[in-house]
Amino acid sequence: ALKITHECINCDVCEPVCPNQAISQGVEIYEIDPGLCTECVGHHDRPQCVDVCPVACIPLDPDHVETPEQLMAKYHKLTRLV
Ligand code: SF4
Ligand code: SF4
Repeated sequence: ALKITHECINCDVCEPVCPNQAISQGVEIYEIDPGLCTECVGHHDRPQCVDVCPVACIPLDPDHVETPEQLMAKYHKLTRLV
């Protein structure tokens, strides 16, 4: 999963581009639910939030490091639920 750092300026452009609805507005800044973020695997070639963020504040989450296989498995799990 990716994470949003405190560089976030709450511009709201990332939230609508997430294919997994993993991004939401938190108490201070926008947040990514690591259980929903597939790093866009299964949907897009690149993380869409990273592509649109104007301040480049969305790095990999060191607490939620996943392999491509794990991300694809998460994608399949999530799409089965909808
Ligand atoms: Fe959503 Fe993709 Fe960003 Fe993860 S990387 S939060 S799935 S847009
Ligand atoms: Fe924050 Fe970047 Fe999302 Fe804007 S695009 S709300 S700055 S994380």
